[in-house]
Amino acid sequence: MGKAIAIFNQKGGVGKTTTNINLAACLALKDKKVLIIDIDPQGNTTSGIGLSKKELGNTSYEILVEDKIDPQTAIVQTGVKNLDIIPASVQLAGAEVELIKLKGREKRLKKALDQIKPNYDYIFIDCPPSLGLLTINSLTAVDSVLIPIQCEFYALEGVSQLMSTIEIVKKNMNPNLKIQGVILSMFDGRTNLSVQVVEEVKKYFKEKVYTTVIPRNVRLAEAPSYGMPIMQYDPKSAGAQAYQEFAEEFLSLEEEE
Ligand code: ADP
Ligand code: MG
Repeated sequence: MGKAIAIFNQKGGVGKTTTNINLAACLALKDKKVLIIDIDPQGNTTSGIGLSKKELGNTSYEILVEDKIDPQTAIVQTGVKNLDIIPASVQLAGAEVELIKLKGREKRLKKALDQIKPNYDYIFIDCPPSLGLLTINSLTAVDSVLIPIQCEFYALEGVSQLMSTIEIVKKNMNPNLKIQGVILSMFDGRTNLSVQVVEEVKKYFKEKVYTTVIPRNVRLAEAPSYGMPIMQYDPKSAGAQAYQEFAEEFLSLEEEE
């Protein structure tokens, strides 16, 4: 049975999508069977992995709002071996409102996910930067939450809100929800600020913070426009090395469990 993990932080621009694409791709290259589900209406994971948003069949939108849809029909292979995706379509922007009047509105993604989970080792859900029903659906569907935090001045701002959302979902929908870990991104070793942020985040999340830190690396920002994970775009870059290292740490902690 696979493990489903939501990549979540309601702040935008903290590295959710970059972490999703590159962690997933690194694990797939290590022979894990991996699925990404994009439920962010911006669809950055979808385009970042090389899919054209114009040529999509069924997507996460249909899975969320239509009844009786077979989630298998929304799965698309990517250019990376062992890595599949359920893409996002622009229609998702309306799903937040459409979901309100649907039966079991918080559990619709879970219903679909439970059907496909046996086929994968890991399923990663790229969440939108909000605390609405799309995010609630993903937190309800998963086993754990991976939280990317950007090394910047306001890094911990919003974290208490993030944690209380997780607690609400735990209490009402998903009692077994865990924190997978906290990954620090866009670290700049030349600034004291980045170093201070790492310390502050470690004080708050303690042993949940991964030892690996993702540096700020321009190649990571370029790769999505070529529709490739960093391991394909520039495997020698500092960004590729960091995500590779992160994938190894991620797996070794999984084995300890
Ligand atoms: P989110 O999904 O949380 O909104 P993204 O992963 O899309 O965040 O990252 C926001 C922006 O920063 C994107 O343009 C992305 O390419 C860039 N970016 C993300 N991580 C890095 C990094 N480690 N170094 C440089 N640029 C990065
Ligand atoms: Mg994103």
